[in-house]
Amino acid sequence: MITFNYDNISTDKIILEIKCIKCQKHTKTSMLQVPPLDLDNDLNIKTAVYKHKCDCGQDYTVKIYNGIYKSYGEIMELQCEKDDFFVDEISDIPNNKDTIYYDTLCALNNNLSIVENIDKLDDNNRDYLYNLLFANIITIIDAYIKISTESIVLSNDSYIDRFINIFNPYKCTKSSSEERIINFYNKKSFQSLNYQDKLFNDVFGLDIRIDNSLLFYETIRNIIIHRNSIAEQGFVYKVSKKNLLQAINIAKNHIALINKKLINLETNNLINNLYQ
Ligand SMILES: [Zn+2]
Repeated sequence: MITFNYDNISTDKIILEIKCIKCQKHTKTSMLQVPPLDLDNDLNIKTAVYKHKCDCGQDYTVKIYNGIYKSYGEIMELQCEKDDFFVDEISDIPNNKDTIYYDTLCALNNNLSIVENIDKLDDNNRDYLYNLLFANIITIIDAYIKISTESIVLSNDSYIDRFINIFNPYKCTKSSSEERIINFYNKKSFQSLNYQDKLFNDVFGLDIRIDNSLLFYETIRNIIIHRNSIAEQGFVYKVSKKNLLQAINIAKNHIALINKKLINLETNNLINNLYQ
């Protein structure tokens, strides 16, 4: 038996990709619903049990546990080899558009179904489209940051000052600070994680931890976009399906984290303005 962890705050459904112990091929479960938390009893851990059959006939039993302090799952038939399974945590798209990242979240969730369609293609087409989709996932983060932060920067004089000090956009023009910032947002990109780090940490004073794998993915994205997937060592970089799904997951987590921090920031600013 192996055990895996998942984040029960952002996860509603889980898809497991298992390297089959019998045929050695990857087999994927359907979406497994995470059992709902028992909010009346915080020590109670709810359990859901699912059966999955590989195409070769091998059966698997998956148990998903959910408690307020503990959430994990078990795959009964697997041994403890970490690379033999992959856990994809899926959150339901919110029904309302209150969250700033609604459209971005939809785009990322759409990508999950695109991955399945690309997976059916022949090797050449699949490799090509996996790479393009991967680059796009990283670009979605960039787009999200642009959409969600411009109005926040412009809404506050100290953010405007800090932004001008740090990025110093279009310094030779006689435009106002606001115009220089709007110009920056229209023409520049936040694809560089270094820019993102400066924006959140230095302008907003928010502690944004940038995941190491995101830094790695940024490098891969640049190889795909600027070097037609040819790495410096000369080989052609191919993004695997697993990399792609991981990138989608990490992008969602990164965006969810930023979204949460921005909503808090806006709420605090609103409260501060009211009591000024
Ligand atoms: Zn099998």
